[in-house]
Amino acid sequence: MARLTVDLEAPNGVKYTQPTGLFIGNDFVESKSGKTLTTIDPALDKIEEVIATVQAADADDVEQAVKVARAAFKDPSWKQLSASDRGRLMSRFADLIEEKRELFATIDAWDNGKTYQEALENDLVEAVCVIRYYSGWADKTFDQTISTTPKKFAYTLRQPIGVVAQIIPWNYPLAMATWKLGPALACGNTVIIKAAEQTPLSILVLGQLIKEAGVPSGVINILNGPGKETGVALVQHRFVDKIAFTGSAATATSIMSIVSKTLKNITLENGGKSPLLVFADADLDEAVKWSHLEIMSNQGQICTATSRIMIQDCIYDEFLRRFRDTIKTVSCVGKQWDKESYQGPQVYKVQFDRVLEYIEIGKEEGAVLLAGGHPVTVGDRGKGFFVAPTIFTDVTPSMRIWREEIFGPVVAICRFSTEKEALELANHTTYGLGAAVFTKDLERAHRIAVEIEAGMVWVNSSQDCDPRILFGGVKQSGIGRELGEAGLEAYSQIKAVHVNMGNRL
Ligand code: NAD
Repeated sequence: MARLTVDLEAPNGVKYTQPTGLFIGNDFVESKSGKTLTTIDPALDKIEEVIATVQAADADDVEQAVKVARAAFKDPSWKQLSASDRGRLMSRFADLIEEKRELFATIDAWDNGKTYQEALENDLVEAVCVIRYYSGWADKTFDQTISTTPKKFAYTLRQPIGVVAQIIPWNYPLAMATWKLGPALACGNTVIIKAAEQTPLSILVLGQLIKEAGVPSGVINILNGPGKETGVALVQHRFVDKIAFTGSAATATSIMSIVSKTLKNITLENGGKSPLLVFADADLDEAVKWSHLEIMSNQGQICTATSRIMIQDCIYDEFLRRFRDTIKTVSCVGKQWDKESYQGPQVYKVQFDRVLEYIEIGKEEGAVLLAGGHPVTVGDRGKGFFVAPTIFTDVTPSMRIWREEIFGPVVAICRFSTEKEALELANHTTYGLGAAVFTKDLERAHRIAVEIEAGMVWVNSSQDCDPRILFGGVKQSGIGRELGEAGLEAYSQIKAVHVNMGNRL
């Protein structure tokens, strides 16, 4: 049998033992086929700089995980566990993640390329908060009694859906896992979660904590593997009751077509091309600060990134001047571990090439390149997938850099003159995830919040994300909601019970 751990030392000196197996039934196991996948450090890679090799699941492993998750769903150790005990168990799980936050931040920074500081101060705080938040919900879901006639007693039962397959992307590896696990567990489902093949490591350490927290065997199972094999096998499986997916709209389309054959319950969180509108009356320093933060942080690999900025014409030139200055002073590109780094490398070569290709497309389409537009060499070895923060101005809605999600540190800027024109530009997209508006006119802010086609609107800020507040998109950005109370809807179903009280009347 292969050894299912490897001893690693990260570039920041953190040493730990990385599990490498599939996590099924609270044990790390080998894949039946012996398939593996390797993960690299994107700051060092241009020739393979492997961090670790982990087991990859094929259809046989998926079969085994589904069997185990189905059994766990019916097992009294989970099914009969009181809602309050389930909540306590989740709360313990959150505490264990918090205790290991430096380790998790190290792993995600190493595997993904995000800065260690961002992982520690953003991703890990969020991951812990989400599990803790949903631990509180476990015993606070209430059913209804419904008044009908004196001869009938009617009530509802909110019940878990069953075995849920969760498929997550690489941009926030651990945080995305917790967004999915929190509400699923609070509602009493069992889970098979698949991480993205680019970032398979932190979720396996989470597996160790699942066991340590006392989660019954088979309630959470973790499979790494390629989307086209492991992901498809999960989506196709007739005994998987629900698919919860976060990733690209293209993959969501393919998942939906497969799911239609078994009519599974489905939640989709896809990408976006979120607009940010700046009106002449806005606090310009604030608008510039947020505009920069929300396209350039996390290497621009944020589904809600405000990648289209619309500026009212009378402040257009001044905004551009300040925006370019901010990029120069704040957007330091460097390795994940350097304290001065604001932006690390893109996650892997495909994404690096894709961003550079879009930059070429922008130039060919006639957009004006105000800053960046090229790869960056960090250190003396010239390795790593680093891209300069890039600003295109005078972008028009017909351009591909305006319409298509780039998922990198590239922003498309244009001008508008009236509120009507701003709204038309903002809504000129197949996506509808987030939208930001900067204005001191409160009436206008509320008007825009109503009219803009997005699942979330930020007024005088951008990207606010809070476990207590729902998250999700409209149009091609998604179906269903995560986080907040609304997140519970995705993992539970309501049953109606009619009791005949009239036989003796
Ligand atoms: P992706 O769609 O390629 O992959 C996402 C996940 O789906 C991975 O785990 C992958 O292995 C799996 N997958 C790929 N093909 C599959 C298939 N045919 N069947 C089943 N599973 C499959 O996306 P990505 O490139 O990894 O992530 C970037 C995208 O995710 C961006 O478009 C981004 O906007 C989106 N995203 C959205 C949110 C959100 O909450 N709305 C959050 C993060 C990322």
